[in-house]
Amino acid sequence: MIYLDHNATTAPAPAVVEAMLSVLTGCWANASSQHGPGQDAKRVLVKARATVAQVLGCKTAEVIFTSGATEANHLAVRGLLAAARLTRRRVLFGSIEHAGHLKLARSLTTAGVQVDLMPVLADGTLDLAAAARLMGPDLALVSLMAANNETGVLMPVAQVAEMAHAAGALLHVDATQLIGKLPFNFADYGADAVSLSAHKFHGPKGVGALLLRQGVPCVAQTIGIQERGRRGGTENLPGIVGLATALVLLGDVSQEAARQTHLRNALEAGLTRALPETHIWCQSVPRLPGTSYLRFGRLAVDVVLQRLETLGIAASSGAACSSEGATASHVLSAMGVPDDQALGAVRFSMGRTTTQGEVISLLSTVPPLLEPLMREEFATAP
Ligand code: PMP
Repeated sequence: MIYLDHNATTAPAPAVVEAMLSVLTGCWANASSQHGPGQDAKRVLVKARATVAQVLGCKTAEVIFTSGATEANHLAVRGLLAAARLTRRRVLFGSIEHAGHLKLARSLTTAGVQVDLMPVLADGTLDLAAAARLMGPDLALVSLMAANNETGVLMPVAQVAEMAHAAGALLHVDATQLIGKLPFNFADYGADAVSLSAHKFHGPKGVGALLLRQGVPCVAQTIGIQERGRRGGTENLPGIVGLATALVLLGDVSQEAARQTHLRNALEAGLTRALPETHIWCQSVPRLPGTSYLRFGRLAVDVVLQRLETLGIAASSGAACSSEGATASHVLSAMGVPDDQALGAVRFSMGRTTTQGEVISLLSTVPPLLEPLMREEFATAP
């Protein structure tokens, strides 16, 4: 199989599985227990937290382990809002946030919070001028993704941090798609809180973290003694060790990013050469290295995905979480892409396991398969 859906999830690295297994079998005690095995588990937890802090450039006290990015996002938005002054009851979200995050935004409005969405331009980048106009003294928080899961477009975190802080608001960044794919260092990242998820960088599912800048008040959303009272519940030690191991395995992120950028560009150039009706979105703006978002002429995405499946190629129609229904991607809609074009959106997302041989194979098998369909579709178009 040629797996090109790394933005949805990645395979756990063998060393991650091994590290987790050793915790599951040999270190399963509760890290809060006073006895020997409990204290052993606590030492493993302390070590994993130190590793995470070292790789991500933060203090150990700034790491709050969660069940993934969704929970980290909830903790950041609800927790920071709950700790904000009562005169600040407005939150800004990016209009192309992850679908689950936008649901959270909608849930806030029913709780009496005003939510405004920051628009994007036609090229998929954030409309900074519009974002600037939405800042104000009533603003508690800005919540913005670092990189979009569908288009791969990078958001201007430093500029938004400056604007949010000038307005006296905090900035939360959902860096789920960025961490593991591009260099990241919390100490010099402008955000006050950052969400991440292990399964996006060859760690396990169901574990992630919120990095919360020291001294920033945040109200716990699950009350308990763990994580310094900021997130209750017995720690998922195998998952946490898996997350820490996956981070260490990342090594030189820039080098891998350059490799994937090269492969992605070769894929896009090859496809547009062989199938000139191919349209690639966001090609001229800074994007994640291995993400390509495109449509093959007027072909509907389900037709394309079916054909790719016959070649053993696993790709996606935009956000994997919303791939059941034939509704246009909210990201493309926000960019002003008409529904009939958006319904053809195919996402190829490469990863560390993607090889040049796979790209060559795709380029030799996909065009001959799709070309007749595209011609047919063109001939019957209104
Ligand atoms: N935010 C973004 C940008 C994502 O891509 C995802 C995963 N699709 C999430 C949040 C949710 O992450 P998790 O699966 O860890 O809850």
